[in-house]
Amino acid sequence: MTRTEEQQECPYCHDEKTIVGDNDMAAYVMIKINCLFVVPRIIMPGNSTGTGCPINYCPICGRKLGVAE
Ligand SMILES: [Zn+2]
Repeated sequence: MTRTEEQQECPYCHDEKTIVGDNDMAAYVMIKINCLFVVPRIIMPGNSTGTGCPINYCPICGRKLGVAE
């Protein structure tokens, strides 16, 4: 599968740019280690640091994750 320029430069699946979430939100969403992560902005002691769900494709650009660059 050939990658488009948009997929090669996608900051969401390459640079861990947050997909959803700004300073007003309690949590944000990002791609990390081929997982879609929901990360709370304020992490309380003893609480989870986030929930990850494995994904195969970037939801923004559609690039297949987990393949060598
Ligand atoms: Zn992407």
